[in-house]
Amino acid sequence: MRQSKLFTKTRKESPADEVSKNAEFLIRGGFVHKEMAGVYSYLPLGLRVLNKIENIIREEMNKAGGQEILMSTFQPKDNWEKTGRWTGMDDLYKVSDSSGREVALGPTHEEIVVPILKNYVTSYKDLPVAVYQIQNKFRMELRAKSGMLRGREFIMKDMYSFHTSQEDFEKFYEKMKEVYKTVFNRAGIGHLTYLTFASGGTFSKYSHEFQTITAAGEDTIYLDETSGVALNKEVLNDEVLAQLHLEREKLVEHKSIEVGNIFDLKTKYSKPFDLSFTDEKGEKNIVLMGCYGIGLGRLMGTVVEALSDDKGIIWPEAIAPFQIHLLSLGEDVAVLKEADTVYESLLKAGVEVLFDDRTGLSAGEKFSDADLLGMPLRAVVSARSIKDLPSGGIEIKKRTEEKGKIVTLDELLKIFKK
Ligand code: ATP
Ligand code: MG
Repeated sequence: MRQSKLFTKTRKESPADEVSKNAEFLIRGGFVHKEMAGVYSYLPLGLRVLNKIENIIREEMNKAGGQEILMSTFQPKDNWEKTGRWTGMDDLYKVSDSSGREVALGPTHEEIVVPILKNYVTSYKDLPVAVYQIQNKFRMELRAKSGMLRGREFIMKDMYSFHTSQEDFEKFYEKMKEVYKTVFNRAGIGHLTYLTFASGGTFSKYSHEFQTITAAGEDTIYLDETSGVALNKEVLNDEVLAQLHLEREKLVEHKSIEVGNIFDLKTKYSKPFDLSFTDEKGEKNIVLMGCYGIGLGRLMGTVVEALSDDKGIIWPEAIAPFQIHLLSLGEDVAVLKEADTVYESLLKAGVEVLFDDRTGLSAGEKFSDADLLGMPLRAVVSARSIKDLPSGGIEIKKRTEEKGKIVTLDELLKIFKK
């Protein structure tokens, strides 16, 4: 895409009402637009990142056997009264229409997915099954000061699994731990993300969170660096340490953000709706459930928090809006012509390229935009780079490198050949 045609522009000044680094960079770069605290719209660059994250998650959920659905945002009050959460959930948005009818704006979808499954699950032969969606959620978060990390409207992947036995559930749950690791590895934060034991609430001993280490995190974890096992601060006590074979002295404290979590729901939501099946002996049993969440916007914000430097974002290749940022410097006709050739060749080779073809900007302005926007590779065509054409032509530099090198167009294209 030609940057001269991109309707968004970068901004030098930080938004006055944002304190978080992720929101600052994402707004300054024109990835997102803030509507109100905790509510953001995705603009072309941000949407490209979101789509890539979404595709990684979708691929991995499909591989795990998940069937994609898309559930409604409006949720009947009756369903929420059945589970006790109409009054029991503090952050539930309730809206009413002119007839006075009240509905919930979905903050999660157990109250919808269970009644759906009830229509189709009757026998043990219908199980196990796992369904998921990628959809906007609404929560009345009290503190929405962390940019994309804590939205009042935010995009979540939520999967729900249904089983005939605890054993079958546990098999799936263990598989999902690996699936989640793959998702975070592919998104470029695997090396900073740890499976973390957290308190499971009333219905199971532990839940598991996937916590990414970053100074901006709202959680605190204790990490055993040798085993890679982490504990959420709120579960840290001698009994838990003994159960997990961890020694308090060896644990290192980190600030972190929960990018995903997995839960054993047992019959908490299947029971109120009497979601049941008949087993081999013809006896009726309540279905066992698990749920598995990942916040997509939060993941994007986490990447920005964890991987940026003081100049801007450093996107991992797999989720960068474009693979390469091509810059033409100056108004020299030969430079513009060569840059155009490079752009067209990259496009032809199927490379996703953002081409800063804007005129009237200094080299410094273009470089600082490239640093802010954070494409993994920068390619510059300038009077200097084309001076010894046909052998030279393009100066390339990774976002993480200080110094670039001159390459030919063929050499550049080779980088993107699989
Ligand atoms: P937290 O403790 O951070 O509030 P949670 O336990 O409420 O998270 P879940 O209800 O389990 O989160 O949601 C599943 C996933 O959705 C979380 O792991 C997180 O990645 C994401 N998520 C939850 N709340 C938000 C939010 N307000 N904004 C963005 N993402 C969120
Ligand atoms: Mg929450």
